[in-house]
Amino acid sequence: MALSAREKDDFRALLLSERTKILAKRKGHFRSAKEKIDIGIIRSAIGNHATEAIIGSTLVEESLSQDCIIKLEEIDEALKRLDADTYGICLALDCDLEIPVERLKLLPGAELCIACQKKKEAKENKCCRSQRLSSHPIYA
Ligand SMILES: [Zn+2]
Repeated sequence: MALSAREKDDFRALLLSERTKILAKRKGHFRSAKEKIDIGIIRSAIGNHATEAIIGSTLVEESLSQDCIIKLEEIDEALKRLDADTYGICLALDCDLEIPVERLKLLPGAELCIACQKKKEAKENKCCRSQRLSSHPIYA
């Protein structure tokens, strides 16, 4: 991919600011999950479903932080690809298309071109993701 040195710098800055945002957001999530647990404990004093509230908010906290970790990994990988000069090339095995710069500006951690991303999402929706969500107590 023919990214100019300047474009590379721009994407590096974008990735780093995205990283900072995620880290800040993650802190916020932990705080709000903790507040929900406190509310759960307070409710238990008046005979409500405290355990459920605690389990529910812990699950929310875990899935949110999992989400953040995945995004952080994506960003770290993207930074590595930027150094290795492979940034912006689709990572799918049977594809080596360039990811459009417009897509990278919106999703600087993008690993796949749009066509491969759609294929991947279609696959995920068919198997694990939808099942996992619907069997999850807070989504049931
Ligand atoms: Zn692709």
